[in-house]
Amino acid sequence: MTDLDVIVVGGGPAGLAAALAIIEAGLSVELIEQRLTVGGAIFRQPIDSIEGVPQHRAVRGRWKALFASYCQSGIRLRHSCVFLGVDSDGVVLIEDRHQGAVVRLRARAVVIATGAIEKILPRPGWELSGISTAGGLQVMMKETGRPPNGRVLLAGNGPLLIAVAAQMAKLGNPPVAVVEAGDPLRHPLVSSGLFAYPRLLSEAFSYLYGMTTSRTTWLRGSVLKRVRRCDGGMEAILADRHGRVQTIIVDRVGLHDGVKPNHVGLPDIAAQTDARPIILKAGDCREALGSIAAEADGRRVARQVVNILSGKTQALKDVETTIAQQRRAQSLLSALFAPVDPASPLAALPDETILCRCEGRTVGDLRLLAQRSDGLSGREAKHNGRFSMGVCQGRFCAANVAEMLNLISTLQTPAVAHDLTGQRWPIRPVSIGALTCATSQHDSNDERGSK
Ligand SMILES: Cc1cc2nc3c(=O)[nH]c(=O)nc-3n(C[C@H](O)[C@H](O)[C@H](O)COP(=O)(O)OP(=O)(O)OC[C@H]3O[C@@H](n4cnc5c(N)ncnc54)[C@H](O)[C@@H]3O)c2cc1C
Repeated sequence: MTDLDVIVVGGGPAGLAAALAIIEAGLSVELIEQRLTVGGAIFRQPIDSIEGVPQHRAVRGRWKALFASYCQSGIRLRHSCVFLGVDSDGVVLIEDRHQGAVVRLRARAVVIATGAIEKILPRPGWELSGISTAGGLQVMMKETGRPPNGRVLLAGNGPLLIAVAAQMAKLGNPPVAVVEAGDPLRHPLVSSGLFAYPRLLSEAFSYLYGMTTSRTTWLRGSVLKRVRRCDGGMEAILADRHGRVQTIIVDRVGLHDGVKPNHVGLPDIAAQTDARPIILKAGDCREALGSIAAEADGRRVARQVVNILSGKTQALKDVETTIAQQRRAQSLLSALFAPVDPASPLAALPDETILCRCEGRTVGDLRLLAQRSDGLSGREAKHNGRFSMGVCQGRFCAANVAEMLNLISTLQTPAVAHDLTGQRWPIRPVSIGALTCATSQHDSNDERGSK
């Protein structure tokens, strides 16, 4: 195995910015991306050169600049390759999905930039077919240039719902309604704070404009209580802040309750090690602060790596300032979109609600387990109850299971998602066949600065 200087995992804004700064500093770098193309969540590329969903001018401009630098850089990309972890010998394990084999790589440093995932709160019926994440619908629009068909309801919490509604409207099928747990219009003083962030404000206004001119109903301070099948579609039962209930018939539902770092199972940050590679995290997988911060964080981490490996002392101040600004902007957005009802949305869930979709485990199953075992821990819920034991390994459900545990049992130390997810490789399911075909450094499906 030839040693590389740096492996960067994830071809989103953070990973691309990191790889670019590392190669510019004269170090060797390889980019590992699980998808066919780079771009990440915000700059997801259309399939087969079709026209994707139109994006805000500033977002297009940022992508154009980043992609042009990447294309000129000669950075080696291993696409369709999934990062599985770093083993106890410090070897980086990658599943090459083209080859159906695990590849073993060595590097002096690894920058992990695996982005964020959506938070989804459980509701009765959320496991039905036709219900996906709102971000999933957005990805589909970015890749195909087509809106989801039929009557679509978007529900949950946070600004992404407005962006998705506006993009659906632009593609010709606005949602029937957006159900929002918060009420941003209640906080004019907080909103005025956004004037300090003109780029964010301009983007927010364009999405709000797109949503409102399509006459999409924006039900603020409301929640989606349950979904059930009915003749000709799905009944979505909504409740507003006064407890008034209404039912809407739809064909699809897009759920979204915010974003959180995609860091399940990832190795810890290790800035100084002798035998093992240095491991640093960048972008939303370290702290979910949006794409402007992700790019700055990629540059920050790259400079850290270069400083450690080359003994340089590049300053971090400018990028740290950008990250701090974006952190303040995200706090404003969180305050603006704070749910009107401060009670835990899990507190009133009926027993039949599925908590862990992969394993089909319900709130009732968890209650029963908690009754049988005094002080049931997250780990016991996993091993004895199969919660967070399925394909997603708790990536989507562990935080909800931990919160539910804290609501229904009296634990001395409150349960946290990590109790159920743990930390180990492989961070993604991998076939035994691929593991047994493990090879070192092979050169398939790699490209240089071209995807
Ligand atoms: C669903 C969703 C939709 C969003 N939509 C918007 C939007 O419309 N507007 C906006 O401003 N912001 C949006 N955001 C936020 C924005 O996308 C992020 O802030 C920004 O993209 C973060 O950049 P990043 O490089 O940290 O992560 P990402 O852009 O998410 O990039 C991470 C990359 O890592 C790859 N990856 C992940 N795990 C592995 C692995 N194990 N092996 C190999 N590769 C891996 C992914 O495929 C991805 O390409 C969205 C976020 C999400 C989750």
